[in-house]
Amino acid sequence: MDPKKINVKGLEKVFEELKRGEQASLGNFLYKGIRIQISKYKSSSAERYMKLYRNRREKGLCIRCGVKVTDKNPKTGKLYRLCPIHRETTDRKQKRPE
Ligand SMILES: [Zn+2]
Repeated sequence: MDPKKINVKGLEKVFEELKRGEQASLGNFLYKGIRIQISKYKSSSAERYMKLYRNRREKGLCIRCGVKVTDKNPKTGKLYRLCPIHRETTDRKQKRPE
């Protein structure tokens, strides 16, 4: 993952979030040619999955496969969180009786 270039304001924001214990502070940052990596030490697979999920969601990618999602949900006006393929497979799963 390429580090995100930040200025001193951005750096302060990152540390503020870190102090508050917010997950938003996690990431790779580049400040004046110095790479700052803030990551969880020995994060569980569930946490890693949540991070991946969030990253994909923010970028408008399918949370399953990472493909760019271009369709919007007509009800909410927001992008779907799944690509057409995974939307279909997930829908099918939900229809199956438990
Ligand atoms: Zn997908």
